[in-house]
Amino acid sequence: MVSNTKKGYFTLEAAIFLPIFIIGVLTLGYCVKLYSTADHAAFALLDETGHLAAEAYGTKAAPFFCGKLEQRLEQENKNVDQVKATGFRYLYQEGERTGLISAGCEYRIRLSLPLDTHYGFEMESRVRCRGFIGKRGQRNPMGFDEMEKNGEGKLVRIFPSWGKRFHSETCVYVKTHAKQIVLASQVKSRYKACELCEPNNLPMGVYVYCFPNAGEAYHRESCKMIEKYTIEIEKEDAEAKGYRACGKCGGG
Ligand SMILES: [Zn+2]
Ligand SMILES: [Zn+2]
Repeated sequence: MVSNTKKGYFTLEAAIFLPIFIIGVLTLGYCVKLYSTADHAAFALLDETGHLAAEAYGTKAAPFFCGKLEQRLEQENKNVDQVKATGFRYLYQEGERTGLISAGCEYRIRLSLPLDTHYGFEMESRVRCRGFIGKRGQRNPMGFDEMEKNGEGKLVRIFPSWGKRFHSETCVYVKTHAKQIVLASQVKSRYKACELCEPNNLPMGVYVYCFPNAGEAYHRESCKMIEKYTIEIEKEDAEAKGYRACGKCGGG
């Protein structure tokens, strides 16, 4: 009698909870499908817009973007339809910012539910970015002077093959050592070629080394005379390479 009651209890329990459990699992499955499809669509939108932004330099209009996006979304996702590219704006200005690109899409994700029913979810994705159009949209390469100024980095001197300190130009350690310079006609007229390393056969434009405050010769890198030579480098780069400021000059 007692066991019969228990059996009846379990049957009742299963009759209530099993359908709830099945509905739960199905719901979870549909949610996963819905979100993965939406994610896929959003990726396609970002990918297309990213390509457009990368190719914006010198491209004044993008007449095929919307069509291409709509086509891609429908082709890549079987259960997506009613795709419509919306709010597309190419290289527009807003306040100080130029070269902006906005794109978006509306679409429907169709899910087939049990008992041959369907349900459509209306979705929307938007993206905004800046096209690559160069500095202030001037569309011409940055000049050398501008590039020089742009860095604004402070220049210091290091001994690339000796020590781990960076120095100011006027540091006593630097003053007595060779400096790296680019071989040009002025260098040849100002300095004599070292008799030891004979750098006079070197082509113009290569690095040679001289002692601006001592000696009258310029040298090759391999010359014994210049073993400890200095080069100019940005302070930030020197620090990134593990150099620390000189104790004597403070690094400048
Ligand atoms: Zn120093
Ligand atoms: Zn030499």
